[in-house]
Amino acid sequence: MGMKKAATLLDDLLQNAGGCGVIDGGFATQLEKHGAIINDPLWSAVCLINDPDLIKKVHLEYLEAGADILVSSSYQATIPGFISKGLSVEKGELLLEKSVKLAIEARDSFWDSVKSIPGHKYNRALVAASIGSYGAYLADGSEYSGHYGPDVNLDKLKDFHRRRLQILVDASPDLLAFETIPNKLEAQACVELLEEENIQIPSWICFSSVDGENAPSGESFKKCLHAINKSDKVNAVGINCTPPHFIEALITKFKELTNKHIVVYPNSGEVWDGRSKKWLPSNCFGDDKFESFSSRWRDLGATFIGGCCRTTPSTIRSISKVLKESSHE
Ligand SMILES: [Zn+2]
Repeated sequence: MGMKKAATLLDDLLQNAGGCGVIDGGFATQLEKHGAIINDPLWSAVCLINDPDLIKKVHLEYLEAGADILVSSSYQATIPGFISKGLSVEKGELLLEKSVKLAIEARDSFWDSVKSIPGHKYNRALVAASIGSYGAYLADGSEYSGHYGPDVNLDKLKDFHRRRLQILVDASPDLLAFETIPNKLEAQACVELLEEENIQIPSWICFSSVDGENAPSGESFKKCLHAINKSDKVNAVGINCTPPHFIEALITKFKELTNKHIVVYPNSGEVWDGRSKKWLPSNCFGDDKFESFSSRWRDLGATFIGGCCRTTPSTIRSISKVLKESSHE
């Protein structure tokens, strides 16, 4: 598939979805709700080993809620991470492949079950292979600080991402989702890797933000988007895992900085303490809030909207309802 065809895939989805595609919501949150224990450096990826059926179940819950894009369970799944759990390289590679396959299986079986129902409101969902940042692999909270230390350079980040990217692409997802990128260096590494590997499927690169204005490293998004804007390998850019009240200003900022599609999937507004690995009590936005936020975000120019940590199928149902209702008026 050439890049032109790849971009068409996203455009077709946007058209079918009435101009704004719905991304799924928090994955780990939903696994935990079903009783999974994921307090582990691999986080939700432990379920790839222990309970793949549960992963599929969560994908199906999000499809049922109206997600147009499923994000695979590979965010924190890495070969070095699996090796440190005592698995072989081969087994680690199979698990990465499996994360994409499970999402594709869920998508296909859901679509088979709804496509012939008259008047259904679903679109055939796309599967995005999740690629978490280097900080997510370190599991030390650095995806929210952006500080990888003096030993981490461009080549090291490319080496870290390369093999996983190849395996995920070979598993045939519809697109690639780089998530929670905290600094300019890693954004550049992702872009160079897409070019070097000559990747022919669409991708988005999403940053986190802890101050609502800059990348977690403190670098401006203008700097961070520089390499991305020059590449036709990246179709969309945006923000994930950031409190909802920052999103409006960030969409406005990104609209000024790029011509690419804009993706936003914030968390619920609760604050993750990366060091103690727990959610701190704070202002949490309810599903009704997400309803009014998402139509506002769409009006400001976001073309893909969903949820990250602590959002649930009920959040996605609210987002889908408001975006799909208004698009069919
Ligand atoms: Zn998140």
